Amino acid sequence: RVGILVGSLAGLALLASNFIPFLRHFAAQTFQLDLVNAGVIVLLSWFIGGLSDIEAETRNTLAHLADTDGLTGLYNHRCFQERLRDLLEEAEKNNTPLSLLLLDLDHFKFYNDTQGHQKGDRALAELGELLSRLVPAPYFAARYGGEEFVVVLPGATRQEAQSFGEYLAEKIASHSFEGAHNLPQGRLTASFGLACYPEDGSSAQELVEAADHALYQAKYSRRLHFYFSVVDRFRALSRSERELFNSLKILLALINVRDRYTYGHSERVGDYAAALAQKLGLPPAEVELLRCGAYLHDIGKVEVPFTVLNK
Ligand code: GH3
Ligand code: MG
Ligand code: MG
Repeated sequence: RVGILVGSLAGLALLASNFIPFLRHFAAQTFQLDLVNAGVIVLLSWFIGGLSDIEAETRNTLAHLADTDGLTGLYNHRCFQERLRDLLEEAEKNNTPLSLLLLDLDHFKFYNDTQGHQKGDRALAELGELLSRLVPAPYFAARYGGEEFVVVLPGATRQEAQSFGEYLAEKIASHSFEGAHNLPQGRLTASFGLACYPEDGSSAQELVEAADHALYQAKYSRRLHFYFSVVDRFRALSRSERELFNSLKILLALINVRDRYTYGHSERVGDYAAALAQKLGLPPAEVELLRCGAYLHDIGKVEVPFTVLNK
């Protein structure tokens, strides 16, 4: 439209110049030529206007694609980092708080293994949609990578971010993701880690690191709780055995803290060992004995250097 308008004005000016005596002598032939020229100008301007329209549209689409995660429709990792850096600068300038929630889906590998990756993808997309619906501006959510998401809360204090995180956790847990009833908790849940500017860090990297640490702590303490409750099932133990076991529990907790990769492993070995023993028809006391043994089988890891353990 702008192209046609500009072209028409230019064409009209060209034609009008034929009628201004001190500019030119009017000649029918020149006027005819100018009529053609004016038409060409309008067409060319229309064409160039159209091209710049397409260019602007393409530019917008590309900018959108560069900032968006294809699966979830949320901001991607690159855009998140960029925006977080800008927001931190602003927070520093205005002396306002900023909080960061890092969120990791629980047992998502298990979900993929049991439901298939297609449904896994669908669950991630659904979570993306849920987050974009639940997170109000100026807060925003992004996909950090894999089954990990972040929510940036500019202006939010620790308490505010904490209660917002609890609200999100509640909403995610109560959302019905297909096939989630097969998961260990009977639904798809997420664990959260919270970090706040300026207490936990002043750069984007420090904040993400602090949130990651908090996330791991949260996940781990929940599992530790679960773990202790499993260990406490050993009713058959005598009092002295139970005391011994209680102190060993602390050692096992230590292994879990040191070895992030295999945590949960002792529980699984315990469950498998007991299941196999039952299948073999061993007497209950021996099943329990096997289970105890399985829980303790990695106890030697406490003394193995971290670098060797995670090699
Ligand atoms: P935890 O409770 O300890 O967080 O266990 P987890 O299984 O969620 O964590 P882990 O890091 O072992 O596995 C993450 C899984 O997320 C592995 C991978 O198959 C899945 N995943 C990551 N990105 C995608 C994706 O884009 N699509 C699908 N379908 N799965 C993904
Ligand atoms: Mg993860
Ligand atoms: Mg996970």
